[in-house]
Amino acid sequence: MSLEELNTRIVSCRLCPRLVKHREYVAANPPPRFRSERYWARPLTGFGDVEARLLVLGLAPAAHGGNRTGRMFTGDSSGDTLVKSLYRAGFANQDRSVSLEDGLVLHDAYITAVVRCAPPSNKPTAAEVRNCVKYLAEELRLLRNVKVCVALGRLAFTTYIQLLKREGVQLSRSPVFKHGAVYRLEGTLHGKPVPVLIPSYHPSRQNTNTGRLTQQMLDHVFQKARGLVG
Ligand code: SF4
Repeated sequence: MSLEELNTRIVSCRLCPRLVKHREYVAANPPPRFRSERYWARPLTGFGDVEARLLVLGLAPAAHGGNRTGRMFTGDSSGDTLVKSLYRAGFANQDRSVSLEDGLVLHDAYITAVVRCAPPSNKPTAAEVRNCVKYLAEELRLLRNVKVCVALGRLAFTTYIQLLKREGVQLSRSPVFKHGAVYRLEGTLHGKPVPVLIPSYHPSRQNTNTGRLTQQMLDHVFQKARGLVG
């Protein structure tokens, strides 16, 4: 399967009834500030540079962010924070991500997520993660140059580790979630070295408002990634 074929399959997926209902409900009942907008209200594909050496792995689209704009980390505060750090580390041509027409181009980076539809309260169920992770598995096969993976949040991190194990990667020790750690994993994935893994707190509003994650902390994560990809 090519990336285009995979993305065609993703955008027409309706496998999780709860998420299908939610993504369409929020689109039909937007808050006043978005009332004039037409929501995407479908699953989101990954986006960015298909030759990327950096993979950025998020959790799921936000109801009024990606689910509205049609692109991950676009049109909400998580996207603002993430793209600022990507820009400062040289992975993006600009520091804003507001709409499909905003001119954002990623260099050597590809953004994706473990779940493609906006979940209620940003919390997918275990079954929904299981349903959706097959798309990430296929992306990992198709993105041939990935050397570093930044996993945003604990769920993205643990799902990625489980996926590696399912793909046959033998890990002598299972990495633990620690913001900014660098895990050089042994073994191969689809015939290539397993990408270096960097866990990071998710740039959610909850984390940035409470100071758990600052812009500077996220900058450091992507500067580390920059150092590792060269
Ligand atoms: S979350 Fe994934 S598996 Fe579930 S409906 Fe959306 S695209 Fe399909």
